Amino acid sequence: MDRRNFIKNTAAVAGTFSLGSMGIVAEPEKTHALTLSFDDGFKKSFYKIAEIHEYYGLKACLNVIATGHLKSFNTEPQWIPQNLLGDFNDWNKLKERGHEIMPHTWEHLNLTEIPIEKAKDNIEKCLVYFEENLSGYKAKGAVYNFAYNASTPELEKFVLSKVSAIRTGGWLVLKDSMVNDFPAGEFPLRLGCWGHGPDFCDDYVEKEINNFLAGEGGWLILNLHGLDEEGWGPVSTTYLDNLLRRLIKIDFLTVQPSGEIVKKIGKL
Ligand SMILES: [Zn+2]
Repeated sequence: MDRRNFIKNTAAVAGTFSLGSMGIVAEPEKTHALTLSFDDGFKKSFYKIAEIHEYYGLKACLNVIATGHLKSFNTEPQWIPQNLLGDFNDWNKLKERGHEIMPHTWEHLNLTEIPIEKAKDNIEKCLVYFEENLSGYKAKGAVYNFAYNASTPELEKFVLSKVSAIRTGGWLVLKDSMVNDFPAGEFPLRLGCWGHGPDFCDDYVEKEINNFLAGEGGWLILNLHGLDEEGWGPVSTTYLDNLLRRLIKIDFLTVQPSGEIVKKIGKL
């Protein structure tokens, strides 16, 4: 999908989806929700991202690779070099500080390009690892973030039988029934997002957020990775800091991790 379609589809969803009337957020004047969804688990970047969010009274949305801390991890060495990744001590510390840590993948394979049984096995191992190693992790309310935002309907169905939501490529797909009150039985949720790389994505993020803020409202999820030199399509530290400083002053906008919004939609 190209960016023009992404914007168009995001706007189409935004037109029918009022956060205030759904009670997603406590304050009814909030019509726009934004999630900056950071992937992969770069140790230095993730601590810095958390620190910047904390400075503005926000929680960061951080998605990590279950086996990223193991020396054997070597998927995408150009974009995800193992020696830059943190471990579950780091993730537990950041979670303790109030940030959201969610499963990204077992070993960062594109699950649409490997045999289905291996893909399901990888998903299963990833979720079990989170249960056993991330304190306070609960499958209910959890968001599984597909590596490369690559999924198939069969894989999505499989993951959605185990957690409350998935994040994958594309745009938000929300049902009409969500406009007023999301029925508990309708869970789980398929969330769409998009990103930009491999160069800096500051300009992309700026443009997407400005388009979103100029629209009627809804929920926009942007997929990011590390800061500065770390990861595919990084944002600069200075840009992220300035962005959050501006965003918290917008009275109709809330900036939250995806799992927080999922829990509010589902009244979990
Ligand atoms: Zn990733």
